[in-house]
Amino acid sequence: MGLLNNKNAFIFGIANERSIAWGITQALHREGAQIGLSYAGAALEKRVMPLADKIGCKFVEECDVTRDENITQVVEKTKQAFGGIDILVHSIAFAGREELTGPFYNTTREGFKNALDISVYSFIALAKCFQPILNHGASLICMTYYGSVKVAPHYNVMGVAKAALEASTRYLAYDFGPSKIRVNAISAGPIRTLAAAGVGGFRDMYKHFADMSPMRENITIDDVGNAAVFLASDLSTRITGETLYVDSGFNIVGVQIKPDENAE
Ligand code: NAP
Repeated sequence: MGLLNNKNAFIFGIANERSIAWGITQALHREGAQIGLSYAGAALEKRVMPLADKIGCKFVEECDVTRDENITQVVEKTKQAFGGIDILVHSIAFAGREELTGPFYNTTREGFKNALDISVYSFIALAKCFQPILNHGASLICMTYYGSVKVAPHYNVMGVAKAALEASTRYLAYDFGPSKIRVNAISAGPIRTLAAAGVGGFRDMYKHFADMSPMRENITIDDVGNAAVFLASDLSTRITGETLYVDSGFNIVGVQIKPDENAE
């Protein structure tokens, strides 16, 4: 008996088998959820379809979240295919590569708008458009990063976007609360994905994380998937508006000193 039996999940943001959205998809599928998937553009179709096949998912829709008409179409098709949705996952972010290196003050107006539109507003837009087909007790989940609360060099405009995403999570949680629909964010430690490859100095940050986190290890997309199962399931029924860290404890450390390898 899976934790998510009889639940329908719709997941946005699969690019390939390294995507956090794929880790979440596999975990939700393992726990018995029926899955619908969405990817950004035609170029990704050939990568996403084989993944969908692996879990026997027949409902795969293209959706560019900057286009309102794309979102409306996906909601309409989802309604026809599933009726209602219990779990909505937003695992989408974008910022131009030039925004993710050098000083933050070089952020361009266009780059700022783009990053906030795709990485933040899209979550609000999806929540609003899916609202009519969200089942009682539904769970909405988005993906964030610690660069929202502390400076992560080069993360720049994405840090600001993630701060806005976490604030949006709280405001959405407040709006949806009376309908018993929950909205939470997962703050994941660094994982080597397509999106991460665009962040200047990511490789060093990844290594630093493994050295400095209390658990001394990086996290995987499966770790995030398991946390998503918890937030999607009835085990977290009274938890909303929260940011859940899946980061080997990295965020609790105030002063980072390279551990003494010889210490007990
Ligand atoms: P990923 O595999 O590259 O996933 C990002 C997804 O966003 C891609 O599928 C991408 O599609 C999609 N996307 C971009 N613009 C879009 C648009 N206009 N419409 C629809 N989809 C669009 O990378 P990921 O690391 O798994 O990222 C997933 C989420 O986790 C993001 O919110 C990211 O910020 C967050 N996160 C990542 C890390 C990390 O270290 N990797 C840590 C914490 C949080 P395209 O490839 O076509 O652009």
